Amino acid sequence: MATKCDPYHTTRPEEPPERNVYHNYKDCPAGKHIKPEHLASGTAGRPRCDDCKKMD
Ligand SMILES: [Zn+2]
Repeated sequence: MATKCDPYHTTRPEEPPERNVYHNYKDCPAGKHIKPEHLASGTAGRPRCDDCKKMD
């Protein structure tokens, strides 16, 4: 069972641009790739990550 968390995103520009999303699952494979120094909380007005949607 995936664990929801507060929204987070990376401050680093992502390629391709559709990767500019926010995550709300700690176990998100894409979210796990965010390095601690690039990790920011909140949605940044971005759409939600598709991988996170699958975990609902
Ligand atoms: Zn995600």
